Formats: sequence, C-alpha cells, structure tokens
Amino acid sequence: MAKLLMIPGPINFDPEVIRALSKVTVSHVAPEFISIFGDTLRKLRQVFISEGQPFVIAGSGTLAMEMAATNVIQRGEKALVVNNGVFGSRYVDIFKAHGIAVDEIQVEWGKAADPTEVREKLESDDYKVLTVTHVDTSTGIANDIEAIGNVVKDFDTIFIVDAVCSLAGQRLYQDKQHVDICFTGSQKALGVPPGLAILNFNQKALDAHAKLKHPIECFYTSIDNWLPIMQAYERGDPSYFGTPAVNLIYALHESVKQIVSEGMEARFERHEKLAEMMRKGLTEMDFKLVPEDGWAANTMSAVYHNGIADADFRGQLSQEGVIVAGGLGKLKGKIFRIGHMGAINANDVSATLNAIQRTLKMF
Ligand code: PMP
Repeated sequence: MAKLLMIPGPINFDPEVIRALSKVTVSHVAPEFISIFGDTLRKLRQVFISEGQPFVIAGSGTLAMEMAATNVIQRGEKALVVNNGVFGSRYVDIFKAHGIAVDEIQVEWGKAADPTEVREKLESDDYKVLTVTHVDTSTGIANDIEAIGNVVKDFDTIFIVDAVCSLAGQRLYQDKQHVDICFTGSQKALGVPPGLAILNFNQKALDAHAKLKHPIECFYTSIDNWLPIMQAYERGDPSYFGTPAVNLIYALHESVKQIVSEGMEARFERHEKLAEMMRKGLTEMDFKLVPEDGWAANTMSAVYHNGIADADFRGQLSQEGVIVAGGLGKLKGKIFRIGHMGAINANDVSATLNAIQRTLKMF
C-alpha cells in the first residue's frame, strides 16, 4: 500500500507531474524541449514574484546555496549568516569551505531572527552578503523576510534567502521584499522530484557578480557559464554548457503550470489554512511545537514527542500509513517533523492527524 509521504521534502507529488517525468526523453536542444524550458523560466518569475533572472541547474538545494554564495562573494570579503538551525550552520560551512570570512547571528532554536539585531550587525561591519533561511527545516520556524528585507535595503549588502523549504508555499515576494538572490530545491513546495536547484538573481546580484575583483573560483556553479544558456532557452535558441535534466524539467514545467494556474495568493492561503489545521490538530492531542507562538512555518511543523521514543513513534505511524521525518541536529530523537506543502489537501492533513491518533493509542 502506498503511504502518505509527509516529510519536509520530498513529498507526495501530483500524478500529472510524475507523468511528465516519464515522457520520452528528447534532445536538450530539440525545439519542443527549448520551448518547454523557456516557458518554465518565464513561469518561475511568477513563482519568485520577481523580474529577476531564473536559473535551473541539475543538483540539490545545497548546490543552490553554494551557487548563490560563490557568484557574489570571494575571499577577502565578509559574509553574515542568520543562523536559526541546521541550514544556517550549513551556510557557515559553505563560506568557510571557500575561504570566506563569516560572522553569525545566532538565534535560539525555535525563535525567529530579530530585524533590529540584523540592522545593528550590518552597521557594525562591511558585509558583502547576508544569508537568511526563510523556513529552517530543523526547527520549523519562518523568519520574517519582509522585515529583514526592509533593513537590508538600506545597505549595499546582497540579501540571499534560502527558500528551499518555503518557495511556492510560505508567503514570499522576492522583489517587493528586497531579496537579491532567492533559491529552492525541486523536491519541496514546488512539488517536483529531487534533483533540481532553482535560483533567481535580481539585477543587484548580477551586477555584484560582474564586479567581482578576482576571477571566479568555481566552474559548474559559475553563472558566467549558465546565464547565456538560460537566456538562450528563453529566446528559443539551442545552446549547451552542461546537459540539463530534461525529464525533471518536464516535471518542473508541469508543476509551475499548476502553481501559476492556482495563483500565488490562493496557494499561500491554502498552505496557511492547512498548516493551521495541522497545528490545531496536534495541539489538541497535547503536542508542543518547536517554534515559539506566531513563528511556525506553513510548509512544515516540528513537533516535540509526547514521551514516546522517536523510533517507536515513527515506526508505528508508518504502520498506520504515514511517514514523517525525525529531528535534525541537536533535536534529533526529540522531535518529529511533518511536511505539509505542495499538492497537499485537507484530506492529507486529516489522514495524518488520524494516523497519529491511532498511533498514540498503541502506547
Ligand atoms: N536549505 C533548507 C532550508 C533545507 O530544508 C534543505 C533540505 N532539507 C536544504 C537547504 C538543502 O537541500 P538539499 O537537501 O536538497 O541539498
């Protein structure tokens, strides 16, 4: 029996998206594929809610993190990371791996960043980039991108938002919120199997790239190699740098078509309603959420166990037909995490809550 995959990505995908994946593979320079890729890029602007330059590259969300960073900052410059959990720490590691000096704003797990603290830190030094994880998947909090964007706009700093666990689910308006580079991975709220890194650079980020002082020290992730390719696909011209993931792009095209036809506002509202339904159901069963009140994300929930051992709880829940994820980092073993994003509906949320109820009865 197929189980409900309620983890924070990959998720249960829409059947039409899976069907698109299984189309006969064509050449990456075939006219029909060029047209699909071009249309995908145009529709992605509507998903990022931005006039920027989208990139679709084969790889996971971590590749997108690295690509965003290495194209706008180099050795000798400083990065600032808002660190609310595992994915903030991952950004620190990425900067260190590239020999880039990095400072952190450490935020207690379960809390969102304080925009005033971000302003004070930006005033204290010359930071080339600031990274913020929109929804940190280890704690289930959502940072306030609008408030932080209103701070960063007063500085030259490039504002990078990791929207891997939020884009197309949690409310996010790239241009309006002054986000310079925003990115995601395909397997989350975009609702496409894992394997694509999807980024969007605004003009400020493209200019910062053009003004880098030293030759760029990466190859596959350099936008010098990818920008002409993305532009060619949008123009409808054949081009090649690295073979694109043809079938995943078919699936992405189907998914962004669905997203655009649902409408971003309707999609945000659906995620808000379903997240509220999930949180209400969990608190009625006496579960406590990791995020402080008001900061819980709408794409996922991080939940403390009710005294039942992690493996026993998730094992029994799986027997009841629902897969949820365990904790990450220092919350490993202490919490479970439920994804509620993408093609999710109220029946999926009810089924998950019912399965949790049945599971609790077994202990
Ligand atoms: N950032 C966030 C917020 C994430 O949730 C994840 C994946 N869980 C990543 C980055 C890394 O993505 P991937 O696992 O696709 O490399």
